[in-house]
Amino acid sequence: MIDSSAVVHIKRSFTVALLVLVMLAAICQRHLEMMLSTSLSIKKQMQDGCSGREVYDLLREMRCFPVEEKDACDFENGYGDGRTYGGERTHEGIDVMSRSGKRGELTVQSVSDGVVENVGWLPLGGYRVGIRSPKGYYFYYAHLEKYDPGLKKGQKVYAGQALGLMGDTGYGKEGTRGKFPVHLHFGIYRRNQGSEESLNPYYLLKTIFRSHI
Ligand SMILES: [Zn+2]
Repeated sequence: MIDSSAVVHIKRSFTVALLVLVMLAAICQRHLEMMLSTSLSIKKQMQDGCSGREVYDLLREMRCFPVEEKDACDFENGYGDGRTYGGERTHEGIDVMSRSGKRGELTVQSVSDGVVENVGWLPLGGYRVGIRSPKGYYFYYAHLEKYDPGLKKGQKVYAGQALGLMGDTGYGKEGTRGKFPVHLHFGIYRRNQGSEESLNPYYLLKTIFRSHI
């Protein structure tokens, strides 16, 4: 037989638990609304034919800025600018510049969880790492001074994991340096009917830069 004080206690505990749940639901709802409205405003700015859902997924996957010491960097919207090395082409990413200009000083980190899809030298990108996220986006980090030698194709990485150091490698045979200022070239690609299509990371980076991490 349960006495009446125990019943009152159970009722109180139940009410408190219910209140906590309602508050949590309200916080989640508010968070979701903020994410959705941010996604929609970024979608308008990106003009890449990205759906609101894609931007929302990208915002959820990109949990930190690609450079750990973000206050030591500057970046502008140089996506789509002309480039000539390796033939006429447009700039398929954003250059996050080192303010000090010292190679090997700043840490490049993975913006998302994912799997290493490419690592090593590219004539255009220098030492680079490419990560495929769980939602299928390809995050491309180029011109690194060096990458973590422990990174192997197929290996799982986590958001915030150090990938390497910012540098100025590329535009030539392996080991070429100094053809341009020290920066991270950061690209985002999505799969589209069998090919990879670049997206403008600028507005996503700007949002992440201003927020928390
Ligand atoms: Zn670039």
